[in-house]
Amino acid sequence: MQDRDRYSRQVRFVPIGEEGQRKISAARVALIGAGALGSVSAELLVRAGVGFVRIVDRDFVELSNLQRQSLYDEEDVRRNLPKAVAAEAKLRRINSTVQVEAVVDDVNPSTVEDTIQDVDLVLDALDNFETRFVINDACARNSKPWIYSAAVGSYGLVMPVIPGKSPCLRCMMGSLPAPGTSPTCDTAGVIGPITHLIASIQAAEALKWICGAMSPTDVRLISYDVWENKFQRIDIGTDSMKTCPVCAEGRFEYLNGSPLRTVTLCGRNAVQLIPAVKGNLDFVRMSESISAFGSVQFNDFLLRCSSPPIPRLAMIRKKIRRPIFGAAAQSAVPIAYMDIVSRSVFVRPIRSHTRPKRMPPAAHPSNKTDVMMPVYWRVAALASGDPILR
Ligand SMILES: [Zn+2]
Repeated sequence: MQDRDRYSRQVRFVPIGEEGQRKISAARVALIGAGALGSVSAELLVRAGVGFVRIVDRDFVELSNLQRQSLYDEEDVRRNLPKAVAAEAKLRRINSTVQVEAVVDDVNPSTVEDTIQDVDLVLDALDNFETRFVINDACARNSKPWIYSAAVGSYGLVMPVIPGKSPCLRCMMGSLPAPGTSPTCDTAGVIGPITHLIASIQAAEALKWICGAMSPTDVRLISYDVWENKFQRIDIGTDSMKTCPVCAEGRFEYLNGSPLRTVTLCGRNAVQLIPAVKGNLDFVRMSESISAFGSVQFNDFLLRCSSPPIPRLAMIRKKIRRPIFGAAAQSAVPIAYMDIVSRSVFVRPIRSHTRPKRMPPAAHPSNKTDVMMPVYWRVAALASGDPILR
């Protein structure tokens, strides 16, 4: 039998065996984030034969990803492919017997429960704490086990969270860290060996959970620094669960609160914006309208406009600043995500099957995105059908 050969070395590993392999084949996993951590975790799970793997990511493959994000290559960059789409294609070639589902979308309070409701296990491979706290709430409310992972510099962390039985992210951290207080890939960089190591530990924890080999009492926070060769297993203890708003009181503040804020993205000097505008996205028309601001590229998934290196648009910004996310936005249906990334604006449609149930409010860009504000307002106006800025 072909599958016997494929998984023979894994089956010979006694803690997994034939029984474990059957559980792995039947398992359904959602992987949130397909960057450095996610691309390694995804590959390991698909090679191991996990029956269903959903990969959710809103980003596109960029040249700066290739140093560590091992599922991707220069061709993916050239084609501006979404990471989830590029990952799915690679993973299907690796193991065609696994069902891989790519979702090009944002995970936020409106979408997270749809993402996790039909899986057994959730893997966090994100680059921001804002979304992790949302996942923590959603997994607690839906009693889904999940595995936290994070890496920056040469250091990384992994911790399984089994709702109600082991400490959660809020037990460990309290509240969301204030912006700018945690090191990010922007400030500290990140090296490939730590993301591969942390993702490998996460994948091992996932296999343990799937095979029924993880006891909640054995769960620990695992930390590793590959530069210092320091490894720790830290017992968070269950005392914090008694006072945790999630574990003890069932308060899901990040799931029920403001649906979406600005989200600071790691490694991209970027702030994500959720525009709330009506209309259809016409990338051909948009590219014509904004081509004066910089070079424009687009495909089925993405429109990108990048400005020249010299900031030269401050005057225009002052002239066109206007509140497009006002009262009209409250009844509008969001149709796109728009990111301003350093000197680029990215526009991507929200797929109809993942359309948010609730209305995310408009978020405000930070000062560092000033250069591309004119493009932002112009695209928003085009998408909303507003003729003023065309
Ligand atoms: Zn907790």
